[in-house]
Amino acid sequence: MTSRMTSKDKFDVALIGGGVIGCSVLFDLTNQGYACVLLEKEDYLLTGASCGNSGMLHTGFDAPLNSVELSCIKKNQQRIFELLEKLELPCKKNGVKMVAWNEKELEKLPEVQRKSFDVGIEDVTRLSLSQLHQMEPHLSYKAKGAIYIPGEAVIDPWLTPTMLAHHSKTRGAAIKTNTMVQSLQRDDYGNWDITTINGHVKASAVINCAGLYGDIVDKLSDQQTFKIKPRKGQYIVYRKPSRPLVNSSIVPVPTEMGKGVILVRSVYDNIAVGPTAEDVDSRLIPQIDPVVTRKLSQLGDTYLPGLSSNVIACMYTGVRPATEYKDYQIKFKEDRYWITLGGIRSTGVSGCLGISNMVKEIVKDKFNLEPSSASYNTLEKILYTYDGHGIVTIGNQQYKISHPMMRAGFDDGHNMLSSL
Ligand SMILES: Cc1cc2nc3c(=O)[nH]c(=O)nc-3n(C[C@H](O)[C@H](O)[C@H](O)COP(=O)(O)OP(=O)(O)OC[C@H]3O[C@@H](n4cnc5c(N)ncnc54)[C@H](O)[C@@H]3O)c2cc1C
Repeated sequence: MTSRMTSKDKFDVALIGGGVIGCSVLFDLTNQGYACVLLEKEDYLLTGASCGNSGMLHTGFDAPLNSVELSCIKKNQQRIFELLEKLELPCKKNGVKMVAWNEKELEKLPEVQRKSFDVGIEDVTRLSLSQLHQMEPHLSYKAKGAIYIPGEAVIDPWLTPTMLAHHSKTRGAAIKTNTMVQSLQRDDYGNWDITTINGHVKASAVINCAGLYGDIVDKLSDQQTFKIKPRKGQYIVYRKPSRPLVNSSIVPVPTEMGKGVILVRSVYDNIAVGPTAEDVDSRLIPQIDPVVTRKLSQLGDTYLPGLSSNVIACMYTGVRPATEYKDYQIKFKEDRYWITLGGIRSTGVSGCLGISNMVKEIVKDKFNLEPSSASYNTLEKILYTYDGHGIVTIGNQQYKISHPMMRAGFDDGHNMLSSL
């Protein structure tokens, strides 16, 4: 299908950035009938923060009360499971066990449980040590205590947004990769004139979904309310024969610095150890630090004795788009038809459809922007196949798997026939 524009070669909405947030917003606005274009500076989608995460769909158990982050995660929880089911995309709702490894962490467990309750997650339960070891027989006997958070899930954080982008494309959205936005200005008719390295684009409204570059893109339109402070995370991913070692992800007790290093059991059953949390200067995906690798390997063995004797599938790093603020930086300017979706630091997968829902409301109710065509009310699954060399074909379109943990899952025999 050729891309849909309004009159005079103009789109209703231009989105800058093809990470999980850009793809989700594109999906929701396209389904509302808006003529959308997504502009991505790299050769393919999902190459920024979105290709370096753990793929966990958090419930929001540790999100601050009354935060925008919490409300987006909650809205996402209401929407995403039905969507994943309709599209037949992988999802495992195995829950997580939060384990205390010392007395100080043990003292904090009741507080975590109380906080979860405060934010409306009421099914968090305390586990006795014998219950914990029954559920996770290979876990180290050094564990001091645990709670179980059953609502936590894992998904494929690459395939899901890729499928949303693909769906949008089949419904007329334009996706322009290799199209870095260089400057923007409002023309005499109040439209955005966007200059890219690949020509000009016109749109009534612009949405900044530029992730790690969100502050720079805001500055292009003469506004800036936050500064990106990149935060690195590093992982080791083991091959699937390690899978009997753990039945769900094991998380530590969170600290001020975040969720801590997790034993992730991915949606394709690889076990990963990570991510670390380290403030860095560069926004680029960093090199693997061998010292950190050794520490992760030792930590993995402390939790799951013998884990490091398994074969490593891959190692990778990611960068979180943190800012000086804890909460998401979602801002809009009605008079300029501009929305910024910034600082989606460490829960973008878990909040994506909540964020896109919020955008839908702003575009409709605050901008009063009418969609240029009718909305779509149905959603059918589209078949996908893996070629064995890092490329997934959806419909007749090829997409490169940019997420190392997911690539390891596909390479390690994720049975594509199960999606047919
Ligand atoms: C180590 C780590 C672990 C994480 N674990 C989890 C987890 O388990 N669960 C969870 O929910 N979240 C997790 N996250 C967070 C999640 O990955 C992020 O919140 C999310 O990826 C942010 O997505 P984004 O679309 O805002 O940014 P990005 O993915 O960075 O996308 C922005 C896009 O904009 C493009 N762009 C930038 N500037 C321009 C320009 N001028 N013109 C055109 N394009 C431009 C970039 O190329 C990029 O593709 C984790 C993150 C990290 C790093």
